[in-house]
Amino acid sequence: MKAFLVDCEQENGAQLYFAPTRGKAKAMAANEEGINITEVSSCQRKPEYDEYSPGPVPPSVLLKDGWWIECSGCGKQVWDDCDEDDPVFSGQSVWCSAACKERDEVREASRKADFAALEKRATEATLARFPGVSVYLVTERYHRPEPYVHFHVPGDTQGIGWEVGSGFVECAPIDRAAWDAYEDRSLASRRGRGDNGSIRGFSRL
Ligand SMILES: [Zn+2]
Repeated sequence: MKAFLVDCEQENGAQLYFAPTRGKAKAMAANEEGINITEVSSCQRKPEYDEYSPGPVPPSVLLKDGWWIECSGCGKQVWDDCDEDDPVFSGQSVWCSAACKERDEVREASRKADFAALEKRATEATLARFPGVSVYLVTERYHRPEPYVHFHVPGDTQGIGWEVGSGFVECAPIDRAAWDAYEDRSLASRRGRGDNGSIRGFSRL
């Protein structure tokens, strides 16, 4: 594949694409930027990058060639000739300095710890409400205060979904019978503890 520098006059500036032909490179860029191929403003051959096909070109090479790359930590532009700190590379990521990378790692570790705590709380809440189910995924949903838990009951095929604390669960129509059977058994044992609240499957399409 050949390297092309395609400019769509979008926010990110011109980008490198590896494609067999100029037309393909323009089509890839247009598709990525969500514009029509006729709106691509320029497409230049860059044979010096062919050796990195199918891409990506290592960020250290791009910096040396005068490109800038966004710092993965703070988002500022990293240039090769900026006279501040030396950039740090890891895979396709670049940080403006070792200190910035370290701060980024601390943030990432704390995000992971927060998520692990959320996962634990959500799993415990699920098992308290639905004894015996097997939780396989906890996710956070955009703009929703409570996590969403995916779990299996005996016999289901696609899993059951529940927003922690919600009064209904979601399941595919095909799993409705498995859910109702679980809830019937569960309700029978909960009745012994004076809990009569039943959750009936809410089928999603
Ligand atoms: Zn930075």
